[in-house]
Amino acid sequence: MSLPEPEPDCLFCTLVREGDHVRGGDGFVAIRDINPKAPVHLLVIPERHVKTFREVGEFPPDEAKRMLEFVAETARAEGLHDYQVLVNVGRPAGQTVFHLHWHVLGGGRPFE
Ligand code: AMP
Ligand code: ZN
Repeated sequence: MSLPEPEPDCLFCTLVREGDHVRGGDGFVAIRDINPKAPVHLLVIPERHVKTFREVGEFPPDEAKRMLEFVAETARAEGLHDYQVLVNVGRPAGQTVFHLHWHVLGGGRPFE
C-alpha cells in the first residue's frame, strides 16, 4: 500500500512515526490523549494525512473499513465494552489538530 508523504509540521504525522503508541500497524496507530477527558481516552490516528473528516472520501475503501475496525479493536484491546467514538470536524466544533483522528472515550462515568 502506498501512502502519501507526511505533511511537514503536522503534529500527528510526527506522532504516527515517532510517538509512544498503545497499538499500531497497518497504517493506523492509537495513542493516549495527552489531556484525557475520560478514564480511558485514546486517539486513533491514520498514517494517511487527511485534514478533517470532511475529506474521509480520500481513503481507499479497504483502508476506510480497516480504519473503522482498528477503532473497534483498539477499544476492545483496552477492555472497553461501552464507549464513545467521536470526531470533531472543524475548529468551531472543537477540532484543534488538523489531521483526522478518532477519539475513543470510556472507562468511567456515565459508562461504568
Ligand atoms: P481535537 O481537539 O479533536 O483536534 O483533538 C486533538 C486532541 O489531541 C486533544 O484531545 C489533545 O488533548 C490531543 N493532543 C494534543 N497534543 C497531543 C500529544 N502530543 N499527544 C497526545 N495527545 C495530544
Ligand atoms: Zn498529518
